[in-house]
Amino acid sequence: MSATGEFGRLLGPQGPLARVIAGFESRREQQHMADWVGEALATRSMLAIEAGTGTGKTFAYLVPALLSGRQVIISTGTRTLQDQLYHRDLPTVGAALGRPARVALLKGRANYLCLHRLELAESMPQLPGMPAPNARMLARIRRWSRGTSTGDLAEVRSLRDTDPVRAAVTSTRENCLGSSCPAYARCHVVAARREAQASDIVVVNHHLLLADLAMKDEGFGELLPGAEAVILDEAHQVPEIAAQFFGLEFSARQCALLARDALAELTRLGLAGTPARERIAGLESAIAEATVALGGGRDRTDWLELPDRFVAALERIREALAAAAPELAAADPEDPGLKQAMRRAAKLAGSLEAIMDAGADDGIRYAEAGRGGFSLAFTPFEVASRLGELMRAQGGAWIFTSATLAVGEDFSHFLGRIGAPAARAVRIESPFDFESQARIFLPEGLADPASRDYTACVVEAALPLVEAAGGRGFLLFTSHRALAEAARLLEARPGFRDRYPLLVQGEAPRESLLARFRELGNAVLLGTASFWEGVDVRGHALALVVIDRLPFAAPEDPLLKARLEGIRRRGGNPFHEFQLPQAVLALKQGFGRLIRDREDFGVVMLADPRLRTRGYGRTFLAALPPATVVTDVQEAASFLRRRLALAGVTVPEAASA
Ligand code: SF4
Repeated sequence: MSATGEFGRLLGPQGPLARVIAGFESRREQQHMADWVGEALATRSMLAIEAGTGTGKTFAYLVPALLSGRQVIISTGTRTLQDQLYHRDLPTVGAALGRPARVALLKGRANYLCLHRLELAESMPQLPGMPAPNARMLARIRRWSRGTSTGDLAEVRSLRDTDPVRAAVTSTRENCLGSSCPAYARCHVVAARREAQASDIVVVNHHLLLADLAMKDEGFGELLPGAEAVILDEAHQVPEIAAQFFGLEFSARQCALLARDALAELTRLGLAGTPARERIAGLESAIAEATVALGGGRDRTDWLELPDRFVAALERIREALAAAAPELAAADPEDPGLKQAMRRAAKLAGSLEAIMDAGADDGIRYAEAGRGGFSLAFTPFEVASRLGELMRAQGGAWIFTSATLAVGEDFSHFLGRIGAPAARAVRIESPFDFESQARIFLPEGLADPASRDYTACVVEAALPLVEAAGGRGFLLFTSHRALAEAARLLEARPGFRDRYPLLVQGEAPRESLLARFRELGNAVLLGTASFWEGVDVRGHALALVVIDRLPFAAPEDPLLKARLEGIRRRGGNPFHEFQLPQAVLALKQGFGRLIRDREDFGVVMLADPRLRTRGYGRTFLAALPPATVVTDVQEAASFLRRRLALAGVTVPEAASA
């Protein structure tokens, strides 16, 4: 498709965006992408569009979305992008086009104050094992609630994400009383949803979108029906998030919250002495018994390895829930709060039963011990077809975009995972000149990644490049163990810390580490998966990215096991169909940290010798941007020195030696 149409003009050098937006750079790639998005919106079709770094994909979908006249949902993977779209990009592009739109930023239920539950929380008795809501914080929320117009708890600055008060003063779809709620007319959740429904563009995150699609807890259930198009940015995250919404979950915490809410409702109605109270007590003791029987400490336990005592306690929880439901209804058949508690008890009993009875051929079941007791999960082997069905049933345009969707030219992995194998897929090349901006360095003679001294070898091999770059490096690891070892080795290295500030993941929150890294300009940052994506360091603070291993997912993860088993059962090849493409996409993400701008340059060192010794190494290399591959460390180091000198960056003599 050629960018000769309306979008080419609007996004071109003489267009309104160039006239109005300071620093706007006209890019053919961006215009091409806008054409594709415009066509998918007009024809209400499904499109996956991989846009290389620097395409300017946000404007490339906002322009056609704003001009489409349709109600569009834009879903993102991260809070940062959501805020950027809502506060900056949408108003800017709307003003430049002369098409200001009604825009809403909609968050999940858990972000809005529930007025009914605030009242319950204030009269709630303390339960064993449940942290009591902090009375002072409750009072603060009450004071704030009198003045807020949005009910968005982010306005309560001192309320931390992990504060137990949050769960007490917010609703889930399960416990929301809906139109029978006494606070319905003033409800913030209802108001936020209404505002979204009346808007042209609604910005949400993938969790909320998928919850809505799958009609799960945190969703609103009425968000999608009005929408004529959905644009999913950072769409590479979608399959993983979707998997969470198509399984079954059950947790001790859900039961404890139900017990607490039911007890609060009974107390409010003066019914704390009824048989319903006894049933609730029975439920609490069965939960405590199961928690003890599972024991703490282990991550995830496969269903077949669970202690018999734990499974027997689960059966008692199921019985207690089933018995509590009618007693709650009988305590006061007219009260909406008790009716809702009854429905929750019945629903929880149903979920637990479904997990306990799930067939081994359908999916994987496991239990996990945690702070709030335990949780159970059932993940079906196959979720893609369900996701695809729901999207088709919703209709309209579905546009998925990210810098990493394809393995080379091949989108089949991504399209298969979203259940849309026949959707149209397009790649837009990055406008950056990787040939001159970057080198891929593959060190020779490194130890086997399984050997004990592998991390030490990676660090040794990276040091000449760290010196040549004068710090300015991200050293990214696929495991926390390797990260810790590398940190120890570098700290023990005489003089290293004097020359380069060393920033290690875990020493401070991610955002403050990144801010320090940008500010210092010559730091070395050690990180794991959380630094592989969504990190944007432009300019000369970053000139080197070292990746220790090919990012194959941990094979012991039950979710991964479930997926691989699902592929095996239908006669597929799990490595080629899942593990390899997943790892290729992850490596592309990691590589993408280096070049964020036309002025950026640097070296990506891919230490894993399997890139050269295994046949699949070619698949990885072919999927990366077209930078020249070098195997001589001197060549990589002199590239760095030359580019830094050209950019006027001085690397201290002692460091470059
Ligand atoms: S309608 Fe639901 S969310 Fe709104 S106040 Fe009532 S219970 Fe809370």
